[in-house]
Amino acid sequence: MNYDYDLFVIGGGSGGVRAARKTSHLGQRVGIAEEHRYGGTCVIRGCVPKKLYLYAARFSESFQDSEGFGWKLSNWSFDWSKLVMNKEHEITRLERLYREGLQSSGVEVFDSRAELKGPHEIWIQSLDQIVTAERIVIAVGGKPNCNKDLVGYEYAITSDEVFDLEKLPKTIIINGAGYIAIELASIFKGLGVDTTILYHGITILRGFDDDLRFTLQKEYEKRGIKVITEQSLTRIESCHSSFQSTGPWRVHLSGGDIIQADVVMMAIGRIPNTDSLGLEGVGVKTDNQGYIQVNEYSRTNIRNIWALGDVTNRVPLTSVAIHEAMCFIATEYMNSPQKPDYDMIARVVFSHPEIGTIGLTEMEAAKNFDSVNVFKTCFRTMKSTLSGRDSKMLMKLIVDGDSDKIVGAHILGPNAGEIVQMLAISMKMGVTKSHLDRTMAVHPTAGEELVTMYEPTYRIKFGKRLHKN
Ligand code: NDP
Repeated sequence: MNYDYDLFVIGGGSGGVRAARKTSHLGQRVGIAEEHRYGGTCVIRGCVPKKLYLYAARFSESFQDSEGFGWKLSNWSFDWSKLVMNKEHEITRLERLYREGLQSSGVEVFDSRAELKGPHEIWIQSLDQIVTAERIVIAVGGKPNCNKDLVGYEYAITSDEVFDLEKLPKTIIINGAGYIAIELASIFKGLGVDTTILYHGITILRGFDDDLRFTLQKEYEKRGIKVITEQSLTRIESCHSSFQSTGPWRVHLSGGDIIQADVVMMAIGRIPNTDSLGLEGVGVKTDNQGYIQVNEYSRTNIRNIWALGDVTNRVPLTSVAIHEAMCFIATEYMNSPQKPDYDMIARVVFSHPEIGTIGLTEMEAAKNFDSVNVFKTCFRTMKSTLSGRDSKMLMKLIVDGDSDKIVGAHILGPNAGEIVQMLAISMKMGVTKSHLDRTMAVHPTAGEELVTMYEPTYRIKFGKRLHKN
């Protein structure tokens, strides 16, 4: 059968663009459709704007810290609209690069919504036309869960709107304590906004190593971020007597308190972006949360349809979506079957201070190994000595006591993300604690602590922590 395309990709984010571009390089006829902007969540309303805003937010602390080093700065001020404008220039540039990359690779680019109409048929909304493809990749990503059951949910914003607010609020309440809530809280606090995190659990960042969670929560409180725990949001209402689309908003808490803010942001997780995509009609199976079900090669139950990235319930990270795309290409077009490898993925939370983490938490290791050695250090960085800032850096290594292999590493402090990226390479190669002990320290750095923790801080045997004698 003759198809219009060898491959058609629905969704122009990190995974979709990589799949389209590389497949086209291999001489295949490829089309791609994106209904919003090329670059997807990461480039347009996620990682890229977040990192730019984080740089902006960190300046305020640098200005304060500089005094201990002899600087005298006066009259510093911040212009939100300038940041928004400059961010927009940068993501427009990146968006253009994505589009040009596709076009120069020979991919036919559609600025349109696309929906499945059959196992090989895709409807292009902008043309009201159906095109056909031998293989189809769905890479439509996710979207914020805005909790539509909540009374007044429509008054809250999500990460989709937060980088384009018309003006910087004086106060913000962020619901949730995962990646997005924690990152945005430190951005707003750094920009001078009175910031509250509202979390239904006890300690932020569930799933991370407990030392990271407790220490970061304390650091946030020290910096003046209010962290309200064990309470949920029950209702949002306007403080105005007549209808207005802007705040302030009154937020009702499960404990009975009412708090108020100019902006309320929901950061309670993301959901797959599969509404009206035509999955049901074609018979593509989804799980009970709506994520597309795939096998270990990212293939759906329909033989010629694959799904990549956040629309599947795997690891919702840009780098993982790109890796899944590369494995799909190797398997389908290069005669070299490859399954995505999810082992030892380093993760960074761009909080302030930053978290870099990889492998097992202490608790997970204690469940998985008979003998665990924990190496831990918490220290004041050299910069803090003169700046006078009361801030600690934490480093923790989790080692399998029997094999000496490092099975987890957890860092909180400046440049934790950069440090853990490098550590990830050696951990992927199976580095042992004695390799680190034999590694010469680079002095003076914070990272040298990782290779100079010679004695375990404590040991865990069969799940029980042993006391030092
Ligand atoms: P997360 O899953 O990280 O966090 C969601 C938060 O909301 C948790 O604190 C969760 O609490 C809480 N929550 C869940 N449901 C409810 C509810 N009904 N009411 C109140 N609170 C609730 O999601 P995010 O939206 O922050 O981020 C989505 C994903 O995007 C992440 O998983 C991550 O993979 C990715 N991401 C990665 C970044 C990075 O790599 N730096 C940055 C931003 C996003 P509990 O834990 O108790 O369930």
